[in-house]
Amino acid sequence: MARKGTVVIDRELCKGCLLCVHFCPMNVLEADPQPNAMGSYPSKAAHLGHCSACGNCFEVCPDLCITVYALEGVAKELNHVQG
Ligand code: SF4
Ligand code: SF4
Repeated sequence: MARKGTVVIDRELCKGCLLCVHFCPMNVLEADPQPNAMGSYPSKAAHLGHCSACGNCFEVCPDLCITVYALEGVAKELNHVQG
């Protein structure tokens, strides 16, 4: 499937719970081996080529660390998608 979205993660806000990693159906996300300033290992968008812009990561993040952007030409009817 063609890539449909971009995901931006605020790695300094992220506490490394990895809920977003577990709930991404396309295996886009993974834990960053580099810790942030808080000493947490944040998630990172390692395989954006597979992102479907489904918004699961946005929905499950308890700390609002994630923004999902639709790529040009992708319908933006879902309220989790910006841009
Ligand atoms: S769900 Fe949010 S806080 Fe948890 S790892 Fe993902 S971005 Fe970080
Ligand atoms: S928008 Fe969906 S496919 Fe893209 S990273 Fe988030 S959960 Fe995965």
